[in-house]
Amino acid sequence: MPAAFVGHGSPMNAVERNAYTDAWRAFGASVPRPRAILCVSAHWYINATAVTAMATPRTIHDFYGFPSELFDVDYPAPGAPEIAEEIVEVVEPTWVGLDADSWGIDHGTWSVLVHAFPDADVPVLQLAINAMKPLEYHLDLGTRLAGLRDRGVLVIGSGNVVHNLRDIDWRQPTAGFAWAERFNEAARTVLTDDPARAVTLGEHPDWAQAAPTPDHFIPLLYFAGMAAASGDRAAALVDGYAYGSLSMTSYSVGAPPAPAHEARSEDAAWMPVEVSAEDTNI
Ligand code: ZN
Repeated sequence: MPAAFVGHGSPMNAVERNAYTDAWRAFGASVPRPRAILCVSAHWYINATAVTAMATPRTIHDFYGFPSELFDVDYPAPGAPEIAEEIVEVVEPTWVGLDADSWGIDHGTWSVLVHAFPDADVPVLQLAINAMKPLEYHLDLGTRLAGLRDRGVLVIGSGNVVHNLRDIDWRQPTAGFAWAERFNEAARTVLTDDPARAVTLGEHPDWAQAAPTPDHFIPLLYFAGMAAASGDRAAALVDGYAYGSLSMTSYSVGAPPAPAHEARSEDAAWMPVEVSAEDTNI
């Protein structure tokens, strides 16, 4: 089974069609039908390591200030409690708790899966990002999750390589600031050359600006860990920038080769409704 990292960007991508969502669709259509999908979403960032283990996960609308059509999105994929227990075993001795009822499917997951798996008929689980742990922990846990690929589980990290809401410039919907491009390219070099070194991105001169909080970056470490464990080469699924301070680059390993394409300017024409950058939680 392939594995992927998806730069999810704005929740509005869930209800729009653009170069990014087309790339996510193409990826979903290209992979063998998974037994389940395990998503490491930037938006489940808590003080523990846990995996969702409910039979019927709810669709969580974890944002505000967006149009009502986004709150109407439902992603009714089933859960898979038995696969959650399998994941607990696969990552041992790292401890992962079973979440029976607190989380579900957040927008970091469903904004991607409504495109990649629009039928919502593959069981979906989420792995929480333990905010108390150093970068090395997440890379290491990613290497342990690599074993799921042989068990037919599709693991997707969902965040953004560069994610700085404070510096967003709404007048530049398809641009990347110089520091964002430098960091994004450094990440590309590491992922394609030696993904086991992905934690060194935390020492990059642009780190503090590219990831002022690491929640959207850390899902990339899970992907890097899986790539490192398998020795597969990571390839970009789609490339682009949004509003200066977001990278929209996505990667995969083990997927059939597809030409990576650059987003066009009209592809990123979403805007939040009357909210400031601090209020959007994208
Ligand atoms: Zn996000």
